[in-house]
Amino acid sequence: MPKIAMKTPLVEMDGDEMTRVLWKWIKEILILPYVDLKTEYYDLGLKNRDETGDTVTIESALATKKYGVAVKCATITANAQRVEEYGLREMWKSPNGTIRRILDGTVFRAPILCEGIRSYIPSWKRPIVLARHAYGDVYHNAEERLSEGERAYLVVTDKEGREQRRQLIHDFNGSTGVVQCVHNLDASIRSFAHACFRYALERRLPMYFAAKDTISKVYDRRFKDLFAEVYEEYRKAFEEAGITYAYTLIDDAVARIVRSEGGILWACKNYDGDVMSDMVATAYGSLGMMTSVLVSPDGKYEYEAAHGTVTRHYYRYREGEETSTNSVATIFAWTGALKKRGELDGIPALCAFSERLERATIATIEGGQMTGDLIPLFSREGIVPQKLSSEAFLRAVAERLDA
Ligand code: NAP
Ligand code: MG
Repeated sequence: MPKIAMKTPLVEMDGDEMTRVLWKWIKEILILPYVDLKTEYYDLGLKNRDETGDTVTIESALATKKYGVAVKCATITANAQRVEEYGLREMWKSPNGTIRRILDGTVFRAPILCEGIRSYIPSWKRPIVLARHAYGDVYHNAEERLSEGERAYLVVTDKEGREQRRQLIHDFNGSTGVVQCVHNLDASIRSFAHACFRYALERRLPMYFAAKDTISKVYDRRFKDLFAEVYEEYRKAFEEAGITYAYTLIDDAVARIVRSEGGILWACKNYDGDVMSDMVATAYGSLGMMTSVLVSPDGKYEYEAAHGTVTRHYYRYREGEETSTNSVATIFAWTGALKKRGELDGIPALCAFSERLERATIATIEGGQMTGDLIPLFSREGIVPQKLSSEAFLRAVAERLDA
């Protein structure tokens, strides 16, 4: 069989630890034998980020802007312990944060479902996709502790700094306390809304946006109004696709989601999305089965697994031990990116290959061959699950792919 040819290169962002090991194997075992792979390679491994003064991260994000599609391996976000472990020159910022800022994107997380892998919420039969606004709110806040007798005000000035409005937040007469101020931008909320409506249409998923405008009558209300305004541009396409959009209060959304069958796109503000995406990921079973894609308002895509570098497994691997690390979300990052590249460049064979690889991966698990994290979740009549090593799992998928 001749290998499938590509036109535009994929932006390839390599990463760290166990996922860097899986990355190499996935390419060798599942991609390179079938695809004449064209990538522009950026090594986002911590060592190279340190050596390049983190310019490699910025360059990889700019390349994504240029070519339109990237696939990213999980990377270490440096902290004090990592600075020591790797002898870093600086505590580099989170690469995902840097890429998100440059692409101004929205993150969509979707689970991969297999027959036999139970969700902790049995009614969830189809994926719940969570969209998290990645700007503002408590993540860019200003906060203070106040002493007894102090007062906190919200003060608004004009460009020259002349006071325009002032609102008492609280008079701390009688008790010490804390105060917090958050902000958001209309432009960012609009981008978020566009990204969500576009994703819902592409996947034909009905969509909720949830906030708490009954309590937050200005801040959350602004989100609600901007979503309603942007929706007008998509209303016709939604109706034609037979899908719906509704705004709902966040507490009501939680109740509806828990009772639903899934098959929904749930758009959340930054903090709600942070919390709820972990809840949804956990409920579906394993972090190893959760995909993530960053979509920019002008239609650039960066695909990755939602989990991290699986450090504990890596330390065992380095000691020469065999690991059983789940590679499914990373395989799907590759198939997502290749499929999107195939769509944009008009290469149906590349799209078909990506889908075949996804089906082979799922069929391998459904047939009872899987990594250790899935074993306790698996139950299918007549099938005794078999725990495979990280590499053996990939070889089992390749066998199905060839069959
Ligand atoms: P993690 O790498 O996601 O791992 C947490 C635990 O979840 C693992 O120890 C493992 O549990 C289980 N797990 C996660 N993915 C798995 C997989 N594919 N297969 C099997 N088990 C899996 O999160 P972390 O330990 O908090 O972070 C490790 C490093 O990753 C950190 O340096 C962090 O900065 C980075 N990180 C990067 C990203 C990203 O690049 N997007 C995201 C999150 C974290 P057991 O050990 O019990 O088997
Ligand atoms: Mg979280």
